[in-house]
Amino acid sequence: MKIIMLGAPGAGKGTQAKKIAEKYEIPHVSTGDIFRANIKNGTELGMEAKKYMDAGALVPDELTVKILLDRVSQADCENGYVLDGFPRTIPQAEVLDKALSERGESIDYAIDVDVPDEAIVKRMGGRRACVTCGATYHIVNIPPKKEGICDQCGSELILRPDDEPATVQKRLDVYHEQTQPLIDFYQNKGVLHSVDGTRSMEEIFAEITALLG
Ligand code: AMP
Repeated sequence: MKIIMLGAPGAGKGTQAKKIAEKYEIPHVSTGDIFRANIKNGTELGMEAKKYMDAGALVPDELTVKILLDRVSQADCENGYVLDGFPRTIPQAEVLDKALSERGESIDYAIDVDVPDEAIVKRMGGRRACVTCGATYHIVNIPPKKEGICDQCGSELILRPDDEPATVQKRLDVYHEQTQPLIDFYQNKGVLHSVDGTRSMEEIFAEITALLG
């Protein structure tokens, strides 16, 4: 089962992607997580990606497509995966489509988690991420057991530079301009499903599992 999560930054697609990955026992592949791991390890790719990420811009397609195709060609992705944060542009979607069709494969579901911009801006200001393991929290919706401390590894929680309000607005502009056209792209392929992302995490997940079976 190959699934793509669509939706604006902060729509909650990452949370749903992790839950899907767990339930259906397929890898959760997040290009944002791969970039952040590279930044943490000080790799060349990380240094390059950070420049764009901190500014709320997209990392260039050439870099992003390569790391994604490498990742999904690994053995654990043989039975499918859930992509979170990729594709984010039409050229990325086209490259993925071509790579899959060369192997006689295709995307089974593109799930759009739909949330209005105003709600996103409100949510992102409350988002906190662990500096060490990348786990994400929300000061109101998913608070850690101890304020400012990661439940999973005990490290410090921070507001990521790309979750700062001015950067969030920039990311939303980028989303509308470059990523939203993917909704039509997958609709035309007959695999698009939209879910109302303003409801609780559990309600959204119930709708998704009803769809995936
Ligand atoms: P995310 O964690 O998915 O919100 O990604 C964080 C940042 O990583 C984004 O704002 C982009 O700068 C970069 N990024 C992640 N995935 C992609 C992608 N598919 N294409 C370009 N940039 C990406």
